[in-house]
Amino acid sequence: MNNPIFCVPFSKLRLKDIPRIGGKNAALGEMFSRLKARGIPVPDGFAVTTQAYWSFVEANGLRQIIKDNLRDLDVEDAGGLASRGKAIREAFMSGEMPEKVAREILKGYASLSQRLNCRTADVAVRSSATAEDLPTVSFAGQQETYLHVQGEDMLIDAVRKCFASLFTDRAIAYRVANGFDHLKVALSAGVQQMVRSDIGAAGVMFTLHTETGFPDVILVNASYGLGESVVKGLVNPDQYLVHKPTMAKGFRSVIEHRLGNKHKKIIYAQPAAHRLMTADGMTKTVSIDAKDRVRWVLNDEEVLQLAKWGVEIEKYFSQTAKSKRPMDIEWAKDGKSGKLFIVQARPETVASQKSKAFMETYRLKAAARPILQGVAVGQKIGAGKARLLKSAKEMNRFKPGEVLVAHMTDPDWVPVMKQAAAIVTEEGGRTCHAAIVSRELGVPCVVGVPGAMQKLKDGMDVTVSAEHGEEGYIYAGILPFDIKRTPLKRPSGLKTQVMINVGNPDIAFENAVLPVDGVGLARMEFILNEHVKIHPLAALSPSKVGNRERDLIHKLSLGYRNPKEYFVSVLAEGIAKIAAAFYDKPVIVRTSDFKTNEYANLIGGKLFEPTEANPMLGWRGASRYYDPSYRPAFALECEALRCVREVFGLSNVIVMIPFCRTVEEAKQVLGVMRENGLRRGVKGLQIYMMVEIPSNVILAEEFAKYFDGFSIGSNDLTQLTLGVDRDSALVRHLYDERNPAVKSLISAVIRSAKKSKTKIGICGQAPSDYPEFAKFLVQEGIDSMSLNPDTAMAIMKRLK
Ligand code: PEP
Ligand code: MG
Repeated sequence: MNNPIFCVPFSKLRLKDIPRIGGKNAALGEMFSRLKARGIPVPDGFAVTTQAYWSFVEANGLRQIIKDNLRDLDVEDAGGLASRGKAIREAFMSGEMPEKVAREILKGYASLSQRLNCRTADVAVRSSATAEDLPTVSFAGQQETYLHVQGEDMLIDAVRKCFASLFTDRAIAYRVANGFDHLKVALSAGVQQMVRSDIGAAGVMFTLHTETGFPDVILVNASYGLGESVVKGLVNPDQYLVHKPTMAKGFRSVIEHRLGNKHKKIIYAQPAAHRLMTADGMTKTVSIDAKDRVRWVLNDEEVLQLAKWGVEIEKYFSQTAKSKRPMDIEWAKDGKSGKLFIVQARPETVASQKSKAFMETYRLKAAARPILQGVAVGQKIGAGKARLLKSAKEMNRFKPGEVLVAHMTDPDWVPVMKQAAAIVTEEGGRTCHAAIVSRELGVPCVVGVPGAMQKLKDGMDVTVSAEHGEEGYIYAGILPFDIKRTPLKRPSGLKTQVMINVGNPDIAFENAVLPVDGVGLARMEFILNEHVKIHPLAALSPSKVGNRERDLIHKLSLGYRNPKEYFVSVLAEGIAKIAAAFYDKPVIVRTSDFKTNEYANLIGGKLFEPTEANPMLGWRGASRYYDPSYRPAFALECEALRCVREVFGLSNVIVMIPFCRTVEEAKQVLGVMRENGLRRGVKGLQIYMMVEIPSNVILAEEFAKYFDGFSIGSNDLTQLTLGVDRDSALVRHLYDERNPAVKSLISAVIRSAKKSKTKIGICGQAPSDYPEFAKFLVQEGIDSMSLNPDTAMAIMKRLK
């Protein structure tokens, strides 16, 4: 046999070396040697090979100890697993590092220190198992990482500890579950220069959207201090989303900013001079100052820099693998130099493997009021008895099918997580360990739910719902729910464009898999209601509203210069998410169409909204936009739209004006839009009008002079044609879009639109509810039809 090689510098490692250095080190070596040249900074280091591991195992007679302890192991027996795992780890920890191996490690360390121009380099020692970081199973966090290791003794100790961590209880259980032989898996340790993120920041980035698998965004998580706080779910980090295609065109498309409640960070525990410590205890967790919690960890420049590297890394690994490889990447920011680094990368293993043939949707059957809320993971619903566990040691109180409730779950919890109907944790964000593992297990999970351990009682029935976009909810009781599987095949030969109605940004990515032609109606009210929450005039004059509202406005706008900036940014980001999901298909965004009573419900709204006897026919739609008392608010809507199209580059957004009663109104609104930088025809901007008032039909050819397209609002058109209040239960039996009078108006406006060469579509409810109505529209020659996402596939099939 050739002389065994115990240490190899990153610069000499490639992906093909996985068998001797594990997935993590191989990826680091590949990036260090290949991607550095493309401007991606990866800290230097070296790998302690699996040959070193085997030499350690043989020298200390560990093979037999492993065999003896794991014979006939039942991983469901938590007690047995714990005692056997402990026995193996103790044997590892009392093992001697063979002299030859120790000598090589120290040689590698000396030469790294020399390259870094220091006497004893400050390093991270990471485990890299041969079976981990494969494209199909993540093994995320199964083995240990030791940070801020400095000096020879501590380094040898950290390597030994890494070796032992191949036999943590969770790693043993994970291998059993995934069918790996304990004696065929080996561990390599990566020794890498520390980035001083203890005084800077760190986090994780994914090159796709982790809940839905949507591939066109980069998701960046960030918090202060060492990256372990994000990986382990100690904090709810800041979150940023970047849209790849528009970034590639040079736009600053950071299309989402979410401020986390980062209250803790992990920093160095000792000045580096204390070298005699063991590898444990070199870091500690401390509180973050209140003022720093409400500051963004990264600025847009930094987010875009990371995102560009993310795209480059994904591209590189995809080329090497000859298939698309979304990546899960750890980054760090050096607090001294302010520089960013990539410290780790591995293939993402869950969202990227979701079936593209079906869309699975979970929906609660009944409306209910949630008792708690947090960050949704996994898009499913689960229910059962809540089991509150203070630590993984209480595992044996947990029964399969219960809902696990914990402060946070580190990898020791995996055996329980696997048996849970759902998981709720008080801490954590989208990329914490609990989130990663539950996604992989397919268990619905809500993380970052403060107070869950107090509010939920041990043994109570709960339903955990992660199905509704970004927010996850916990309900009391067992609620019934549906699971629907929709095949995603588009019928061939459709003459009419089929679009969907999406107003809630949170469900945009999950619906992006539908084979449709874009979004026919994005109601801005939904974004205002769900995301922005503040009345635009209250955002402009917060000092005018009452104390309670002012406090709410202040809290919501933390992280922004003022409530106005908050309003415009959050509105723009909501629109952008929908536009990005369907880029570069058309996305028709309608300016706000609340009624006065609905505007009044926004925070601070009561002060600015009159009370109307008949809001449905009152101050709504176009009539507000040019009115001096709403005009400043409409300017904010325009500013958000402009930001989406011009700063984010999402020029697929078409703007639509609702409830425009007269041609004169149309002219006035277009004038106000021009004043606010939205000029029809400039930078490709198209402006549409809703056709939902009989006057719009009667004077269609006149209106057509001012707009690029029409979209029929059959909901209002029916109400106004038949004189039936659409909200009244008393006359509900008279409300029917299929009434010949309504159909006659629809036929008429389609004809007029054809005559004036104006595009004509429909976005009201009728074709989603009545397939025969959809057929009627096709017969009349309508250009496009916008349907509810849940009915789009079924209706599409019947249109042929
Ligand atoms: C309509 O009136 O048909 C329409 C789509 O608008 P809304 O339902 O929002 O009034
Ligand atoms: Mg309407």
